[in-house]
Amino acid sequence: MPIYLDNAATTPLDPKVLEAMLPYMTEHYGNPSSIHALGRKARMAIEKARRTVAQHLNASTGEIFFTSCATESTHLAFTGAVNDLGVHHIITSPIEHHCILHTAEHLQHTQGIHVHFVRLLANGHIDVGHLATLLQQLEGKEKVMVSLMHGNNEIGNLLDLEVVSVLCQKHDAYFHSDTVQTMAYYPIDVQKTKIHFLQGSAHKFYGPKGIGFIYINSDSMIKPVILGGSQERNMRSGTESVFNIVGLAKAMDLGYENIAATSQHLYDLKHYLADTLKKNVPGVTFNGDYAGQSMNKVLSVSFPPAIANELLLLNLDIAGVCASGGSACSSGVDVGSHVLGALNVPADRHNIRFSFSKFNTKAEIDTAVEKLMGILKIQSQDAA
Ligand code: PLP
Repeated sequence: MPIYLDNAATTPLDPKVLEAMLPYMTEHYGNPSSIHALGRKARMAIEKARRTVAQHLNASTGEIFFTSCATESTHLAFTGAVNDLGVHHIITSPIEHHCILHTAEHLQHTQGIHVHFVRLLANGHIDVGHLATLLQQLEGKEKVMVSLMHGNNEIGNLLDLEVVSVLCQKHDAYFHSDTVQTMAYYPIDVQKTKIHFLQGSAHKFYGPKGIGFIYINSDSMIKPVILGGSQERNMRSGTESVFNIVGLAKAMDLGYENIAATSQHLYDLKHYLADTLKKNVPGVTFNGDYAGQSMNKVLSVSFPPAIANELLLLNLDIAGVCASGGSACSSGVDVGSHVLGALNVPADRHNIRFSFSKFNTKAEIDTAVEKLMGILKIQSQDAA
């Protein structure tokens, strides 16, 4: 089995999640819209899952809607904000996931929405002063929505949700946050921090692929994009994927139950790898605010051209180490990372994103480093 260090792209399914899902693939196969016993069993499972998600976010169940993935949730939030809430300006950043950037761009082309980009600091955090200026300039004219991600999937930077939320409230703007990378890893309390829309995708937290959700604050209810049989209280039609919904809720439960231990484990792995590389690889640097306000599960490593070449990722793959050359979320075709580009990382450096899971071990990091050193033809400084 390869050593899997690409957990920001997707995580393996937790066996406990699979166990919770299986009965809903086999015996409890009813359509949740059917009123007979099998249908009611499926319906109960969905509503229990919704309560679970709502409780973890301190939201009400009426604010949680299951979707197929976070990309769909983004599309729903953005379309609804424009069509139903009168949003004319979207403020975002150049280092958002493509599901945000391409949706904003689409609304710009099709509906004339104005898209503004907040400036970034050298460490990849947003310039909060610039955000405040943009909000001030637009206040009182037309409706504004700010969309800024909580955890950056490529460099790991963490946004202070509270700071942005307070600014949005001050300037009467809606706030959407792409919380895909932090959901079930970091606590989010929507009673404490006012956010109008946030989202999750189960496969990023040891759940199944093809299931996500959106939280829509009851003050900013929008209309559906997918019409049909009125499922999800008419917010998202289509027969619910019951076993996936059950899996999402179980994965979220496990994430939040073990949040402190998992967080420490990921922190240890990340810093062990960073320290080992610093000791052994001349000229190595790390993208983003890796030792500061940053997710524990991501380490974006930048190798100088003097020691690495464009075959590094391929050679790591051949050596049995799965990592990513930037973001693996789109097509897998390496067209260069828009995130590293926006941060002015020199084009001749070779970047590898390592991202960790609760299942990774220190021994795996040792093996991955050993393989890496072999590829870079570097003698380890450690006796071991
Ligand atoms: N947002 C971020 C930050 C991501 O990393 C991803 C990853 O794919 C997405 C959104 C989209 O998630 P999905 O592909 O599950 O819709």
